[in-house]
Amino acid sequence: MNDKINKVIELLNREYGEKKWKKRYDPLDQLIQTILSQNTTDKNSHAAFSNLKRKYPNWESLLKASEADIAETIRLGGLANIKARRIKEALFAIKEKNHNLDLSYLKEIPQKEALSFLTTLKGVGPKTAACVLLFSFGKPVLPVDTHIYRVSKRLGLIGDVDRLKAHEILQQMVPEEYIYSFHINMIEHGRRICKTRPKCPECVLNSICDSAPYFYPK
Ligand code: SF4
Repeated sequence: MNDKINKVIELLNREYGEKKWKKRYDPLDQLIQTILSQNTTDKNSHAAFSNLKRKYPNWESLLKASEADIAETIRLGGLANIKARRIKEALFAIKEKNHNLDLSYLKEIPQKEALSFLTTLKGVGPKTAACVLLFSFGKPVLPVDTHIYRVSKRLGLIGDVDRLKAHEILQQMVPEEYIYSFHINMIEHGRRICKTRPKCPECVLNSICDSAPYFYPK
């Protein structure tokens, strides 16, 4: 399997370019941005996040806002009522545990401990927690989203397992130094080529993919 994952990484890097980590958001911003990104497009979640930041320039002020007001502010990101509740619950839980909203200390503590803290927050699963550690600190933790899950399954990297198990398997399988690039490139590949109806003839991975003969039998 090592050969296969290395080949996948190499071919994706050749096709889309190797991605190097650069910090996008502060960890709390990243957490909120990731909650907002659930079940919607990047464009809509970024717009919802910008609206939220404009209305609540510091997250302490959001703690005092009503869920209805928060939901109204993020409406265009979809599932507004659920996301408003999740964001508020997450902020309250952080404040209750740490007595402030600063998550920068997560960079200094062991990765396992940081993941464990984040996943105790209601509505924060392994994918969201991994996004915070990967994007805000460049830690080698692999978030497995719907694209990565689908493409990995079709390639035959993970077998017929659920998302949680897929996360465990891929985390062990992908060399730490390539986790960031693998994450970004697999999502791009899932969006462009290995979609619900995959374009196997155009796919750079078709020579090593277990599913290519199934979708495009010769
Ligand atoms: S060959 Fe087809 S199924 Fe396999 S990764 Fe490429 S697009 Fe997806």
